Amino acid sequence: MNPSPRSLPAVDAAMRHEAAAPLAERHGAGAATAAVRTALENMRREILSGGDPDISEEAVVFAASKLLSERGLRRVANATGVALHTNLGRSVLSEKAIEAVVEAASGYSNLEYDLAAGKRGSRYDHSVPLLKELTGSEDALVVNNCAGATLLALAAVMDGADISEAPPEVIVSRGQLIEIGGGFRIPEVLEVSGAKLREVGTTNRTRLSDYERAINENTRAILWVHPSNFEIQGFTESAGVDELSSLSVPVIADVGSGAFLPISDEPKVRDVLRSGAELVVFSGDKLLGGPQAGIAVGSSRLISAMRKLPLTRALRADKLCLAALEATLDSYVNGTATDELPTLRMLHAPAEEVEARAWNLARKIEAVSPELSVDAVPSVARSGGGTLPVYEIPSFAVRIRGTDADGLAARLREAEVPVVGRVYGESLLLDARTLLDGDEKRIIEAVRNVRG
Ligand SMILES: *Cc1c(COP(=O)(O)O)cnc(C)c1O
Repeated sequence: MNPSPRSLPAVDAAMRHEAAAPLAERHGAGAATAAVRTALENMRREILSGGDPDISEEAVVFAASKLLSERGLRRVANATGVALHTNLGRSVLSEKAIEAVVEAASGYSNLEYDLAAGKRGSRYDHSVPLLKELTGSEDALVVNNCAGATLLALAAVMDGADISEAPPEVIVSRGQLIEIGGGFRIPEVLEVSGAKLREVGTTNRTRLSDYERAINENTRAILWVHPSNFEIQGFTESAGVDELSSLSVPVIADVGSGAFLPISDEPKVRDVLRSGAELVVFSGDKLLGGPQAGIAVGSSRLISAMRKLPLTRALRADKLCLAALEATLDSYVNGTATDELPTLRMLHAPAEEVEARAWNLARKIEAVSPELSVDAVPSVARSGGGTLPVYEIPSFAVRIRGTDADGLAARLREAEVPVVGRVYGESLLLDARTLLDGDEKRIIEAVRNVRG
């Protein structure tokens, strides 16, 4: 016989339970009361659908505390070995970028104010000198994300086109009509920009002559897209930006990852520009290692056309992003990027250092959980975030066996600072390459509490 919804305790009564006080202290009385109300509502629904939940005041407070600990955007420890993990927030800001964000957030700034002239300035001017210096471009524009920058670039080449006449066309190789995580599909972005997609070549082979044949009086641009999250192997052929630039049409290159320094065979932004692209767009929070942003570098002609689009206002970057980006770019200008940017540090850390970290963590986990079988094993880390899909980075992971791996993984995800690892067969693997300062302590704390 399940209880009647009317026998549920009142919100006030639950809040008077001794377990409610620490909850109110930690999260605030308002948040705790709201969580108790939600917990009661959930129980009421469970009862109405035939369930038989524990409806003691203590159970209500416990359910509320669970709700509170699961809510919101939270810090997690990334033990997946995927550095730019899209679901875990991609790149991690440097100390200097964090300081710049705090500074910008704590007071007023010259976001849109020209201090020399004492009048209105433009938010689009920040970071431009640094980007020009670092990429050799004529001009630059920073917006909310790379998807937005790509859309604006295409809209800019369409600008002024008379759509009632023959629609303006953008040529793209069939091998580059890709979808990037989060449902960003190149053909759909083209459609939104108003451009007519002119597909050339085949999935595996597109030659320069395919582009050449497709050019007509309506052609506005060639879009070259970095395949990012996949690689076609075998019988393949594609035309590079350098070859495409020999044709009489502007080339827009969406390189996605935005590498400024050499890593694997990733094209560097500066090199893509030098090989003749009129515009290169890329993310701020992939291999660049900065905040979420979309960055366009290239000709003054296209950048100023982009600046003038009404859509640019809708996709503008906020002051916190601009502050973090400027500090990130400073690290590159000063030649300290691989030391200061956590993402680059992680990707470049020597395997021996990662191995030592893994063994150190393994021993500490074993010390708090002697019943587990813990050691360290070679693993493969990845850059992730839709970059370098087949690039394997030698790494080391803590391997935990002797318990239900899925169960342990789930418990660690419930920790105060959730730990996200990887289950492989009967083992839980915690990759040491993607751990940040302080994560070891967080993981040991999480393991300790799983036992308690
Ligand atoms: C990742 C990626 C994007 C999207 O970048 P966001 O910053 O996530 O908007 C666009 N194009 C390419 C080629 C990418 O790899």
